[in-house]
Amino acid sequence: MTTGIFLDRLHRARASMQQSGVDVLLVSVGSDLPYLTGYEAMPLERLTMLVVPRDGDATLVIPRLEAPRVAEQPGAFSLRPWNETDDPVAIVASLVGRPEVAAVGDTMWARFLVELLGHWPNSTTRYVRSTEVMNELRMRKDAAEIAALQAAGAAADRVAAQLHAGDIPLVGRTEAEVSADISARLLAEGHDVVNFAIVAAGENAASPHHHPGSRVIRDGELVLCDFGGTMAGYCSDITRCVSLGAPPAEVAEAYAVLHEAQAAGVAAGVVGAACQDVDRASRTVIADAGWGEYFIHRTGHGIGMEAHEDPYMVEGNTLPIAAGHAFSVEPGIYVDGKWGMRLEDIVVASDAGPISMNHADHSLVVLG
Ligand code: ZN
Ligand code: ZN
Ligand code: ZN
Repeated sequence: MTTGIFLDRLHRARASMQQSGVDVLLVSVGSDLPYLTGYEAMPLERLTMLVVPRDGDATLVIPRLEAPRVAEQPGAFSLRPWNETDDPVAIVASLVGRPEVAAVGDTMWARFLVELLGHWPNSTTRYVRSTEVMNELRMRKDAAEIAALQAAGAAADRVAAQLHAGDIPLVGRTEAEVSADISARLLAEGHDVVNFAIVAAGENAASPHHHPGSRVIRDGELVLCDFGGTMAGYCSDITRCVSLGAPPAEVAEAYAVLHEAQAAGVAAGVVGAACQDVDRASRTVIADAGWGEYFIHRTGHGIGMEAHEDPYMVEGNTLPIAAGHAFSVEPGIYVDGKWGMRLEDIVVASDAGPISMNHADHSLVVLG
């Protein structure tokens, strides 16, 4: 990441502040900070805060012992390290002045905001959530972000390919063992962190967020694997199912519907369509085939620096899809007590149509 990227993002943040009448943006721990500065702060008790005045220079207030970890971006922001005996909140207060409207990061610790309020007695400052400034920017991924999502998606695809090839032993192992195996493979393929590795066998797959446990995987079952991690700051998230032996007719038929529903959802993810149109496209296919009551969650979620973020592909979300929006398309069919299936890819909307970040085989691969 070059300084230009952060200058550009800060520039767009200021334009957004201008539009929403925000005088100062205060960003502490959470993903807005690395988005704007390239620096990811550890969520610790020592205050780290980026102060972005609408019409002034941005300053990163940071514990002196953490300052060496920051790659300085000259022109984008300057560093204001504080010593152990300083009052960092007073430093922030002096940089901020007396704003009319301050936008405060969602994940800033409440203690820092409470302490900051103490520095502004009788202030008429109005506080808004930083999402008012940042959400629009964060949703529209720039070229560097799309490249990062692509790389993370390709790494997850390689693990899915190992699953499909039968390289990951399933029969006779517990869900938890397979989950640990998949996690190790995500790291081996370049992820820095594993965010989740759901492995759900047989009837357990009817619970969409099943926690993998001591259940032993048996021959003849459908196994759902939903896994992802963070690689160079950006998330992957993919779901594939495998059948251990030829699937029963009911399962094979349902999977064909699921496959079609997922493709319809991806195809609906075009610039200008509403987010809810993606949900409707997938849901219509499943409902028309008679499985509607078994599709019990929204079709997708936004993804980027966070595994789940705006925009959400759900009925009622009329937000128009814009170029750079990144989201999952993951319809599922869940039959209580019997089986469950889901098919998930990450997609980025572009003016040339939806671009999939995942290319692993979409079919119900039969193993054994
Ligand atoms: Zn989820
Ligand atoms: Zn997933
Ligand atoms: Zn997902």
